Amino acid sequence: MTLLSVRDLTVSAPGGLALVDGVSLDIEKGERVGLIGESGSGKSLTALAVMGLLGEELKATGHVFFGNEDLFAASERRRCQLRGDAISMIFQEPMMALNPTMRVGKQVGETLRIHRGLGRRAAARAAVDLLGRVELPDPQRCAMMYPHELSGGQRQRVMMAIAISCDPDVVLADEPTTALDVTVQRRVLELLDRLVAEEHCALLLITHDLAVVSEMCDRVVTMYGGRVVEVGPAARMLTSPAHPYTEALLETSLAVSVDAPSDGVLPAIAGSVPAAGAFPTGCPFRDRCPRRTEACEVTPPLAGDGTHAVACWWPIAQPVAGTSTR
Ligand code: SF4
Repeated sequence: MTLLSVRDLTVSAPGGLALVDGVSLDIEKGERVGLIGESGSGKSLTALAVMGLLGEELKATGHVFFGNEDLFAASERRRCQLRGDAISMIFQEPMMALNPTMRVGKQVGETLRIHRGLGRRAAARAAVDLLGRVELPDPQRCAMMYPHELSGGQRQRVMMAIAISCDPDVVLADEPTTALDVTVQRRVLELLDRLVAEEHCALLLITHDLAVVSEMCDRVVTMYGGRVVEVGPAARMLTSPAHPYTEALLETSLAVSVDAPSDGVLPAIAGSVPAAGAFPTGCPFRDRCPRRTEACEVTPPLAGDGTHAVACWWPIAQPVAGTSTR
């Protein structure tokens, strides 16, 4: 059963520049989807648009269905209700998301007061329980602390407590460990993995760490240039990707996860992600792709068999016709 369905989502900057361009993706009940791509690919903007949390200067069009309900057609009041109740988000930098002037127990309890109608004492008790569930030491004491008195890993646990507080159906986690020390990243991810399993909720995990995707996700969506360029089962895409960009991400990720090469230089994807508005016409990956041909000057459609789709004129298993320009 499809829980969250994004259809033809476009996010535009002032002047009409499309930062997210026609993105469609589905998340099934209880499914874990990894959304991958370099910074600037449009992953976080997609999640923020789903949550209705884009900055005022950005305009989102398209549809986001939660069940049969189109969130873009819903009132702001209804969207607020669903945010937290049904869909919650864990942000990259918890310090930016938490209120620095409010004790963390009160911040966790606030969600329960708003969405579950709990009284002050019941919300405070439930907040301490939740802080215990996210394995914060001495949750009673933590509840009385301010965000700046906690470590980065502890603050991210508070964000997780808020995210699961109302038993959401789907959690969007935007690079939840990027701002943390390497030593605590794994423990936080293990906790996220456990909480999602216990809550039986779906997960959209935004990350550039393909090892994490391989461990935690059922399906993978690759974004580049604000578009979905490949989508398919994790087991397939992380072993035999069809899009040259997914392959490049995989090669880079593998190189980072095994011993560094003897010269100490880790491979990187050729070139860099262009600034918004500077992507080439046609295939957005064209300037960096070793398989490009003249055909790639026309935008390739996302085409596939229903479980695996790729937007590429020359997917990896298919021989490139003509002469590469590289
Ligand atoms: S369409 Fe062409 S440029 Fe784009 S990824 Fe495929 S081969 Fe490379």
